[in-house]
Amino acid sequence: MQRVIIIRYGEIFLKGKNFSFFENKLIDNIMSVLDGMECNFNRLNKRFFISDYEERNEKKIIAALKCVFGIHSISPAIMVESTEESINSYVSGLKIKSGSFRVSVNRADKRFPITSMEYGAKLGGLILKNNPGIRVDLHNPDIEVCVDIRENNSTFVYHEVIKASGGMPVGTSGSGLLLLSGGIDSPVAGYMMARRGMPIAALHFHSYPYTSEDAKNKVIDLAKIISKYTGHFRLYVCSFTEIQESIHKHCNSEFMITIMRRIMYRIAERIAKDNHIGAIITGENLGQVASQTVESMTCTNDVVDDLPIFRPLIAFDKEDITKIAMDIGSYETSILPYEDCCTVFLPKHPVIKPKIEKCVKEESKLDIGGLITSAMQNLEIIDI
Ligand code: ATP
Ligand code: MG
Repeated sequence: MQRVIIIRYGEIFLKGKNFSFFENKLIDNIMSVLDGMECNFNRLNKRFFISDYEERNEKKIIAALKCVFGIHSISPAIMVESTEESINSYVSGLKIKSGSFRVSVNRADKRFPITSMEYGAKLGGLILKNNPGIRVDLHNPDIEVCVDIRENNSTFVYHEVIKASGGMPVGTSGSGLLLLSGGIDSPVAGYMMARRGMPIAALHFHSYPYTSEDAKNKVIDLAKIISKYTGHFRLYVCSFTEIQESIHKHCNSEFMITIMRRIMYRIAERIAKDNHIGAIITGENLGQVASQTVESMTCTNDVVDDLPIFRPLIAFDKEDITKIAMDIGSYETSILPYEDCCTVFLPKHPVIKPKIEKCVKEESKLDIGGLITSAMQNLEIIDI
């Protein structure tokens, strides 16, 4: 008899011929979060389990596994031999203080001599005998004691099913460059794409000295929070000060934000292409601010030639985004009150429905090529 942690996977179940590619990626990612923790990883016909760890580390291991995309749920369990004697002996020792319970038996190993229904009733009787204050409720029990009799002479007994992050293993779906501000939205956008299996890198623009060192450190902190789910990634930090000053000096102020964003996207595309990254990811959300109208997004898409731009939050309400930010642990950092470069030189009346021709005309007043080259030369790289 030993303590184990059962790991069940989700959507990759549906994969056909390429199943082992997804499964191997998931195993790599699990190994990587368990790196440095003493335990063993085991495979068992379409599920995994962790064994040989110290009981005091169980919560820590579960917390790490909860962040691995591709895992559907986790159960701390006791593993016993698949004999009636061993199972009966463990189950009859279970202590349930009060309320109702039921026993659900899954007989994956059909060689086990008693049917699931029959054995469930028998085990229920054993539990009742030793816990006289409780009752059986087959439909809505307080506790469901699950007995999973597997093929390799191992039976798992557990009562807790902890929901994990779901999604697909990171590393199974292209790669994306996340435009990461210090706000609530973009960390969630990165999380959502990584949850679909996309490894990410991130790009942050700052306008030092208009924005502070603290604002930049906040973004590094956010990147660290995201990396709990994505694994290590590269953060590119780009100074936007010269570009903003130049736009401010030469262009119609109404177009400040639109042109800033078009230049951000050009730089993002350059970095993505130089580093073989296949997509751009942003936290944009339809209608949230002036720069997030259909017309504004048409103007920003216009400068990116060959890469898809993913906006996973496009149709979310702020409330829903905030809830995810709280769940993944980025919210508290996102709301720290440091300014973003987008709020520096903010015009009183930003254009809400910009036209591409107008943007092009305003941009002709700038040395865009020179500004971008200079920004690229000063790019800072931080490995998170
Ligand atoms: P967020 O909460 O993510 O900051 P927001 O609601 O503040 O979003 P905007 O400021 O319009 O919206 O930014 C929209 C998107 O543009 C952000 O989600 C992010 O992807 C990108 N972005 C904005 N500012 C920056 C920045 N300083 N560096 C990198 N990307 C940025
Ligand atoms: Mg922002």
